[in-house]
Amino acid sequence: MTEDATGQAVRVVIVGGGFAGFTCARRLCKTFARARRDIEIVLVDPHDYMLYTPLLPDVAGGLIDPRFVTVPLADALPKVRLVVAQVESVDLLGRTITVRGEHHPSREIGWDRLVLTPGSVTRLFDVPGLHEHARGLKTVAEALYLREQLLHQLEAAEHDDDPRVRQARRTVVVVGASYAGTELIAQLRALADAYADRRGLERAQVRFLLLDTAERVMPEVGTRLGDKVLEVLRARGIEIRLQTSLRSVAADHVVLTDGTKVSTHTVAWVTGVTGAPLLSSLGLPLERGRLVVDADLRVPGFPEVFTGGDAAAVPDLTKNGKAITPPTAQHAIRQGKALARNVAAGLGLGTSKPYKHRDMGLVVDLGPGFAVANPLGIRLSGLAAKAVTRAYHTYAVPRGVNRWAITLTYLTNTVVPRPLTRLGLVSPEESSFAASEGIGHEAS
Ligand SMILES: Cc1cc2nc3c(=O)[nH]c(=O)nc-3n(C[C@H](O)[C@H](O)[C@H](O)COP(=O)(O)OP(=O)(O)OC[C@H]3O[C@@H](n4cnc5c(N)ncnc54)[C@H](O)[C@@H]3O)c2cc1C
Repeated sequence: MTEDATGQAVRVVIVGGGFAGFTCARRLCKTFARARRDIEIVLVDPHDYMLYTPLLPDVAGGLIDPRFVTVPLADALPKVRLVVAQVESVDLLGRTITVRGEHHPSREIGWDRLVLTPGSVTRLFDVPGLHEHARGLKTVAEALYLREQLLHQLEAAEHDDDPRVRQARRTVVVVGASYAGTELIAQLRALADAYADRRGLERAQVRFLLLDTAERVMPEVGTRLGDKVLEVLRARGIEIRLQTSLRSVAADHVVLTDGTKVSTHTVAWVTGVTGAPLLSSLGLPLERGRLVVDADLRVPGFPEVFTGGDAAAVPDLTKNGKAITPPTAQHAIRQGKALARNVAAGLGLGTSKPYKHRDMGLVVDLGPGFAVANPLGIRLSGLAAKAVTRAYHTYAVPRGVNRWAITLTYLTNTVVPRPLTRLGLVSPEESSFAASEGIGHEAS
């Protein structure tokens, strides 16, 4: 038994059960079980599942059932005490956190070691109307809403006599042309195409617009693959406006930064992330909204407090620590393992090591028959990249049943088009930035 000074089992509290927190909890369980030592691991998250975010564009595109991208924490981590609640505050000196759940009032939980992995939220800007009328892509509610909203607008357009209103309903604007926004627009396009084919509509009647302030789409994959992406998106009828963003958003239109007015009822805002709101309440230094941390993932000045994933500005030792690691699942998973190793080392098991990981590249699914990928620097596009991308995601989802369900869905989709049923389960309020991601006007 690993005990504190009072003879109690040492308690490690992990805040956030995403890629980093989930991996850390799982690895800690294994490490202590192997050493036949007991510790208490408490995982706090407002959701009872770990969300596999890289497949959210497939959920928005109606390809994958949302349940398949959620891994139940209680099943996957049976030895961990799960607290389904929001951490409201952290007392770093008193070593407690205060949590509030849907079914219980605020209460305190003490800790001996604290792992802060609350991830990130959509980065919002002060664009009038953005909070009310646009949606992000960080949660199941947002992904489902975008799918249902598109189908709802396409159906409503069929009953509108006014051609201008019809066209507005058949227009989708996505802001953010890095991998998440690009995957999203490709999947929404595929959903609209499936709808058009089934309802006898010309595909070109549904207009898609992708905006970004950058000069290129998907700078993460380099110029050559970026050019390929541009070519494929354009061939699918997606208009791309670079060095352009939104000046304002209203219920039935947006105004672009170049002054153009575009009538639309469907706007997605996928322009990057910033650290979870909890981080700014800690009184600790932040870099780009993320917690400043040492290379061994300890918070400076608090040797019992660790952090990693999107929540942390981890020095990138492959770049001599002059940059921070990007907010990707690839780093969050590996930082989760490093967190477990370094927490265990502080409790007498193994040795602590600084975090160092060379980027393995990206895989980006761009809808029917196409993807781009650069695994280990090898540039791939088309069907080869598609196979690598799907194999990678299927393998990376941390639960066998989910992997099975996703594989079957992909196989089914090679012979049967994606379903177009609209369930109307997520309301505009539930999918708003405030309700879904916990960020409001003050976050802009
Ligand atoms: C659409 C999309 C596609 C992506 N595709 C890829 C990809 O292909 N490859 C890749 O490498 N990365 C991808 N990413 C990035 C990747 O999802 C993130 O880098 C990763 O999720 C970060 O993991 P994390 O554990 O730090 O945070 P998260 O996975 O965001 O988990 C944080 C957890 O903390 C919880 N939490 C937040 N606040 C609190 C609180 N106050 N109290 C308790 N719990 C809290 C949240 O509910 C959440 O469960 C994608 C992201 C998006 C949105």
